[in-house]
Amino acid sequence: MKIIIIGAGPGGYETALLAAKRGVEVVLIESGHVGGTCLNEGCIPTKTFCKNAEVLDSLREGETFGLTDLTYGFDFSKVIDRKNAVVEQLRGGVEGLLNNKLITLVRGKASFKDAHTVTVTPGATPVTIEKSVEYSADHIIIATGSVSSSLPIPGADLPGILTSREILDIEKVPSSLCVIGGGVIGLEFASIFRSFGCEVTVLEYCKDILPRFDTDLAKRLKQSLSKRGISVETQAQVTSITECDADAYTVSYTRKGKEETVTAEKVLMAVGRRANVASLNLDDIGLEYTQRGIVTDERTMQTNIPHIYAVGDINGRMMLAHAATFQGIVALDHIMGVENQIDLSVMPAAVFSSPEAASVGLTEDECKERGLPVKCLKSFFRANGKAVTMGETDGFCKVVVAAEPKEGAQSPYQPGRVLGCHLYGPHSSDIVQEACAMISRKATLEEFQSVIHTHPTLTEVLQSAIHSV
Ligand SMILES: Cc1cc2nc3c(=O)[nH]c(=O)nc-3n(C[C@H](O)[C@H](O)[C@H](O)COP(=O)(O)OP(=O)(O)OC[C@H]3O[C@@H](n4cnc5c(N)ncnc54)[C@H](O)[C@@H]3O)c2cc1C
Repeated sequence: MKIIIIGAGPGGYETALLAAKRGVEVVLIESGHVGGTCLNEGCIPTKTFCKNAEVLDSLREGETFGLTDLTYGFDFSKVIDRKNAVVEQLRGGVEGLLNNKLITLVRGKASFKDAHTVTVTPGATPVTIEKSVEYSADHIIIATGSVSSSLPIPGADLPGILTSREILDIEKVPSSLCVIGGGVIGLEFASIFRSFGCEVTVLEYCKDILPRFDTDLAKRLKQSLSKRGISVETQAQVTSITECDADAYTVSYTRKGKEETVTAEKVLMAVGRRANVASLNLDDIGLEYTQRGIVTDERTMQTNIPHIYAVGDINGRMMLAHAATFQGIVALDHIMGVENQIDLSVMPAAVFSSPEAASVGLTEDECKERGLPVKCLKSFFRANGKAVTMGETDGFCKVVVAAEPKEGAQSPYQPGRVLGCHLYGPHSSDIVQEACAMISRKATLEEFQSVIHTHPTLTEVLQSAIHSV
């Protein structure tokens, strides 16, 4: 068996490694750097910035921890250097892993010649093939990821309007930053740049920030960010951007029928991402896709052309690195006829703001919309011993549990089954993992309650919630 994989992000390269481990020959085609958006301009570089932000925040709190007469400088060029070093180190690691006799890594841009054949032309990176080559295989997995979207408004294409890629390489911390979009990416940068000393305004079109998250969580996180000095405007429809002088932009928006403006040195456009279908020549082979991405079967990631699969951001299902990786496993298993127990509907997600937020499973709002009877169990970080010792008590945890349906009504979930967990507070991205493990095993509240947590740990916030019945 031979597989072609297009794109070497976490969807593509992880699948290539697993396929090779199982003895399958792979042609992996990458037009940029291996590691994709995640490693080169997404998860990894932003999380190195998060660490810098955390260190600065700790220093600001220094007096609380007995540090006196503290003076320090902040050399932003070193932040960028560290970020680049981390990315290069990890990229080198991935390149090393891909140096496998069953994997042919082809550096170039792929497009379909026909449904079994891909033409690769020289790509944009310094390391690329010199002339076009064709490859054919029994199965093809598309994992070409996504690119930043923009708003169709005047001024959106002004030279200084940044995307999440460009802001990672700016030369200095701007005095002020306007972030258009209060989703995960927008909030992470807002939080990071606030810690870097920048005045930050976030403009979000929807009623709440983080539209796909639990409403309670979104509202409380917004308050926390506001307390940190980040101005968050919801229900703000951005209408135009103008350059007001060499060092500033004015962003105009309407909010509740009123015209408003924000002036900032830099503007970050963080209004979501769209599937990277360009240049794949999908129309010629009749591969079905919509504005959201390539249409796939939710369990197998198979497209309308049965031997072609699409995993990761390209199918627009869940634009997360681990979603890409696990969709790749599911696709490979389907190709090879291997059974697995992966439940892609239990997909954890995290926001690496300060404080962090994380979520897995159904939200209370989703349950209400679907008419599912649930009860919600809550606990607060301020009552968690470890959080108090750390001086990080802002946050809460909400566990959504299936309840007994009213007489005559029905629910697909057995009463007591844990359906979701949503939290914000220190290390939420780690804590959510336990809930994820339990929810993916379809655990009941009773089973959840039988798990012993180490004391004193932040994970006890979950224990407190599930014991608050
Ligand atoms: C700023 C930012 C922060 C993020 N933080 C997180 C986070 O903390 N956690 C998280 O889970 N997710 C995060 N994400 C999302 C995550 O990066 C993506 O979900 C993930 O990278 C998707 O993986 P993928 O394999 O589908 O695509 P990608 O990682 O985008 O990889 C696709 C690859 O395909 C290549 N390619 C495209 N077209 C072609 C072609 N025609 N021929 C050959 N190669 C091609 C591209 O060069 C790219 O390398 C973040 C994203 C951004 C932008």
